[in-house]
Amino acid sequence: MTAMALEHCDLLIVGAGPAGMAAAVAAAPSGASIAVIDDNPAPGGQIWRDGPGASLPAAARKWREALERHANIRVCSGTRVVAVPARNELLLEDAERGWRMQWKKLILCTGARELLLPFPGWTLPGVTGAGGLQALIKAGLPVEGERIVIAGSGPLLLAAAATARAADAKVVRIAEQAAFAAVAGFAASLPRWPGKAVQAMTLADPQYRTASRIVSAQGGAQVESVRLLQGGRGVEIDCDRIACGFGLTPNTQLGRMLGCALTPADENGAQALAVDARQATSLPDIHAAGECTGFGGSERALAQGTIAGYAAVGNERDAKQHEGERARWDAFAAQLHRSFALAPGIKQMPQPDTLVCRCEDVPFSALADCSGWTDAKLHRRCGMGACQGRVCGDAAQFLFGWTPPAPRPPLSPARIATLAGLAGHADVDRQ
Ligand SMILES: Cc1cc2nc3c(=O)[nH]c(=O)nc-3n(C[C@H](O)[C@H](O)[C@H](O)COP(=O)(O)OP(=O)(O)OC[C@H]3O[C@@H](n4cnc5c(N)ncnc54)[C@H](O)[C@@H]3O)c2cc1C
Repeated sequence: MTAMALEHCDLLIVGAGPAGMAAAVAAAPSGASIAVIDDNPAPGGQIWRDGPGASLPAAARKWREALERHANIRVCSGTRVVAVPARNELLLEDAERGWRMQWKKLILCTGARELLLPFPGWTLPGVTGAGGLQALIKAGLPVEGERIVIAGSGPLLLAAAATARAADAKVVRIAEQAAFAAVAGFAASLPRWPGKAVQAMTLADPQYRTASRIVSAQGGAQVESVRLLQGGRGVEIDCDRIACGFGLTPNTQLGRMLGCALTPADENGAQALAVDARQATSLPDIHAAGECTGFGGSERALAQGTIAGYAAVGNERDAKQHEGERARWDAFAAQLHRSFALAPGIKQMPQPDTLVCRCEDVPFSALADCSGWTDAKLHRRCGMGACQGRVCGDAAQFLFGWTPPAPRPPLSPARIATLAGLAGHADVDRQ
């Protein structure tokens, strides 16, 4: 059996988005040995995603440089968490090897993912998430001249539209489900966060419509048009792509696997990792920061990450100094949640034959009489496919109020050698 390396660090940070980068930079002056792992090819997380079609903003470059300046920070990009083999230990894998990493303190900065909800036609080629389209364009997908409809809810729709326009696509409609009054209230509150007010002005788009939701996508081999319910009126728009996202869901799987407590469900039924004023979770030695503790934007993630980084190395004084900044962005997050809460009509999007689990072809009608997630999984195969319920689990939580089951290893697809090495525990100690 191949020997599996066992490595050690004082502080392990999972996730190199704004929260993880800020946590590492705050903790570094303590001299602790810090490892930051992230499954993306470079640090930056969702907002500062790199690629041939991306242009990194100055803030992203600044944080990357800050990571590089500290010799005691080791960044492991392209690295995934596979399992939790023991308390204070994670099983990791990159493109070349699997290994175990022992930590004294852990900070979870695992971010959030888009909430994708089923509607007729959502499995057609050309239909993606709103953030998903952004990621594809940044990775080099050519969209020049394509007509794109962006639908769903929240400011991410505008960010996705800006990315598409910068890549020379034609954004023919941005359909926001929230009512005009809610969006106007949000816009009116923005002067409290001047940077956000400026950002909103740069993202303003003449194709933006409130009280608009998707009804269906039509097409054959590729999406050809979208039907929207716009202020109560049906509208059909020809398009080449639809990008549709209904806000964000915190990535809590690893935290749950470790045994961290969750917050009560939010207005969309989603739960986040529960943290206290020091960003500590319910477990000693584990902190959490950023959107795995609830979505609220990159500035909040940075403030939370900074506090978590200081707190994890025992620097309470500096941690406290960032509480005011975090409170400011907590207020922004609360405004965001209030303004873009999903309307009850969104639950009516799927029709009886609409697939909810697209991996296993399970339609809405097959799930309607299930008693919960386990019943749906065992009797209808919902969530048993390639995505392992990452998409349909969130949709079912929103549509039916089902609590997702505790995640089981492996957390992500892993090579047999990694799993086999774990069973052998043939340790090779490396510092
Ligand atoms: C698809 C998408 C696109 C977005 N685009 C924008 C945008 O354009 N503008 C904007 O203002 N906000 C955007 N957001 C919101 C944005 O996520 C946040 O404001 C900010 O990036 C949150 O920072 P974070 O550090 O909490 O999490 P993230 O930035 O999400 O970083 C978390 C990191 O952890 C990694 N990770 C998670 N789990 C594991 C694991 N088990 N193993 C290894 N690595 C792991 C992820 O790959 C990711 O790199 C987007 C969100 C999503 C989901």
